[in-house]
Amino acid sequence: MLFGEKIKNSFIIMESFINSLPKAELHMHLEGALEPELLLKLAERNGVQLPYTLEELKSRRESYENLMDFLREFNIGTLVLKNYQDFYDMLWSYLLKCSQQNIVYTEIMINVCRYTDDVSLNSVMEAYRNACRNAEAQFGVKAKFILNILKNASYEANLRMVESCAAYKDIIIGFGVAGAEVVAYSSSLKPIFERAKELELCGANKTNICCHAGEEGDPSYVIDALCGINVSRIDHGVRSLEDPFLVKALVSLQIPLTVCPLSNQKLKVLDRYFGGNHVVGRMIEEGLMVTINSDDPAFFGGYLNENFLEVVKSLSHLSESEIKDHIKQLCKNSFLAAFISDEEKMYYCNLVDQAYSQQS
Ligand SMILES: [Zn+2]
Repeated sequence: MLFGEKIKNSFIIMESFINSLPKAELHMHLEGALEPELLLKLAERNGVQLPYTLEELKSRRESYENLMDFLREFNIGTLVLKNYQDFYDMLWSYLLKCSQQNIVYTEIMINVCRYTDDVSLNSVMEAYRNACRNAEAQFGVKAKFILNILKNASYEANLRMVESCAAYKDIIIGFGVAGAEVVAYSSSLKPIFERAKELELCGANKTNICCHAGEEGDPSYVIDALCGINVSRIDHGVRSLEDPFLVKALVSLQIPLTVCPLSNQKLKVLDRYFGGNHVVGRMIEEGLMVTINSDDPAFFGGYLNENFLEVVKSLSHLSESEIKDHIKQLCKNSFLAAFISDEEKMYYCNLVDQAYSQQS
């Protein structure tokens, strides 16, 4: 067999292995799953004129200079979302993908700053609630939401969103910060976190808090999130590798990092800071608590399983069985890092073990 064919075959084996294991996804922004086809369909349905064809939209999503460049593209999607059915359809298309990729539990990041008046917010949240209920009934996929404030939104807009979302705390399991890492440290938003805790948006134990840090921002952003707002999870965190003391702290505390390999690649984070190499293999070797996620799958070229395949590339120096062991552990990590009870974590980890043993 030719060398190229051998690699192709082992990739097919890995693809089917990854798909066979149940997984959780903990870092996926809902509007980031808006595929160009659905975006144009919604634009037509709502009479929104967009100056792009399908091909143009697809090609605009092929590469970005940096996070801000990507966010400009991301925001086009929000222009076409107008009513209950639009939000339902957007979430449904992601939940359908979950069922195809064996994602059995997902914590979906939402920001509803743009949908401010009470009527539309209620439509949005009811669409989300109903899509989740129907997906659980039809596919067995469980979904909850992480409410994200944005570093680059105004303090007042963030606070207003938190207040208005208190009515939906039954479907909001955690609270976080997203947005460009060039604006401000997350700890400057501390009073909003305190308010979110009072409104029971951070889980019953008030500790379900996560924060985007250390993808474009340097390790000081991760330290700020850990010490300034006591996060229990860091979203991204890859640039922590630049600070050995921070790595030691993250390892000893086993703070989960929700890493998104295709995002790191598409936003040129790997090119700028890691010589173009994937870093998940290195993070695993360091003993960091890594989980794999898709971030904005419709914009970065792949959903969760495609991100796992990127991990396989970064582990290509290992044997097939060693790679499979790491993949199994990453799947278990996704549940261990989730905002769920210890009993649920144990239940899902057992599911991973069962699926793994059926494969071997
Ligand atoms: Zn993100």
